[in-house]
Amino acid sequence: MTRYADLAERYGSPLYVYDLQRVATARRDLFAALPEEFDLFYAIKANPHPEVVRTLREGGADAGKACRAEISSTGELAVALEAGFRGEEILYTGPGKTGRELREAIALGVRMFSVESPGDMRHIGAAAVESGVEVEALLRINSVSASATTSIRMTGTPSQFGIDSETLADVLPELRSVPGTRIAGFHFFPLSNAKNEEALIGEFQNTIALAARLEQELDLPLRFLDIGGGFTLPYAVPGERPVYGKLRSELESTLDVHFPQWRSGAPRIACESGRYLVGDSGTLVAGVSNVKESRGRKFVILDAGINTFGGMSGLGRLLPVAVQLDAEEEASDTATLVGPLCTPGDILGREVALPPLAAGDVVSIPNAGAYGPTASLLMFLGRPAPTEVIVRGDELVSVSRIDHTRSYQVGSGPDVRQ
Ligand SMILES: *Cc1c(COP(=O)(O)O)cnc(C)c1O
Repeated sequence: MTRYADLAERYGSPLYVYDLQRVATARRDLFAALPEEFDLFYAIKANPHPEVVRTLREGGADAGKACRAEISSTGELAVALEAGFRGEEILYTGPGKTGRELREAIALGVRMFSVESPGDMRHIGAAAVESGVEVEALLRINSVSASATTSIRMTGTPSQFGIDSETLADVLPELRSVPGTRIAGFHFFPLSNAKNEEALIGEFQNTIALAARLEQELDLPLRFLDIGGGFTLPYAVPGERPVYGKLRSELESTLDVHFPQWRSGAPRIACESGRYLVGDSGTLVAGVSNVKESRGRKFVILDAGINTFGGMSGLGRLLPVAVQLDAEEEASDTATLVGPLCTPGDILGREVALPPLAAGDVVSIPNAGAYGPTASLLMFLGRPAPTEVIVRGDELVSVSRIDHTRSYQVGSGPDVRQ
């Protein structure tokens, strides 16, 4: 029996397998593709499994450089702290931070916040003043000059994210005057999932040039500049993590032009990544529950649907998911790949090329380490969360599952004593 089938038999399917060795390798590769002086934030939303997060935090002689953490909720903050991050290594982002969240984050040591609007700045400042501290504000910029093509574009258009770059001059006096805050620099995140290295480099070059122009025009010396991400990875299909061979030297020469002091930390530069760091560490293992035909079309029904792997399909982006049998069978069949849920929306892929499958088979979906369980409709239709297996190469490290339970603040549930 092969490894995945063996794990599925032992712990039940569907299950995810994450290999910490691959996480560590991705972290090392991405640091190597960036200038040595760079910080790298791991976006915890990509995969908040505690052991995965801990692997990205680890640094040192053998392990290489350690990531910092980018979070957007107090739940992610708890994960980051549990994995060993210190408050000052964390960047808190998001357009809707509440006073309660901000006070909790500050109490737990977070001191750097991305600012998405003047209102957001006032909330951050109020929480800081109440806590008796001053925090660093990175103004998130929604640039008008966004250019490269990408699958997920987050700036250049009206957006809940960031401050429109063309309005920055007008709102800056207000932003500067918020007690409890100090503007440390800018945060950009113009794209996710850049098409190729040229697009990625082009976007970074735009971002760096814009940051330098804003610094000059606004007379706002930057101490910190987060230029965002866009590092890509095949998602749920076979393929290798891209190698960014030119990125480092292109970034260095662009920064030399626009920020001549950047190598001595003026400003300190950072990037962000989620999927690139964790995507290829993960495999989703699912069982085939049934195969049926309907009006000439074949449906393969898995025990994993958008409740297990819904990060993208749940957002209306259907995936060309690739399903593999452990035995290298040819994909000679075509079918619609669906999950077990009672909704016609539970589709993992239409007209997917598949090996011949039958009920009882165990299949695997590669490159599924990012945007897995926690990006899925986990509780829909009351199925248990998938099991998550952590391995380090051949060694089994842990087997666990997210548990959903209801806790009552008022009442104690239906009274069945009668
Ligand atoms: C989601 C997110 C990321 C990670 O995106 P990937 O495409 O997974 O690298 C990084 N930064 C911010 C601000 C994000 O919202």
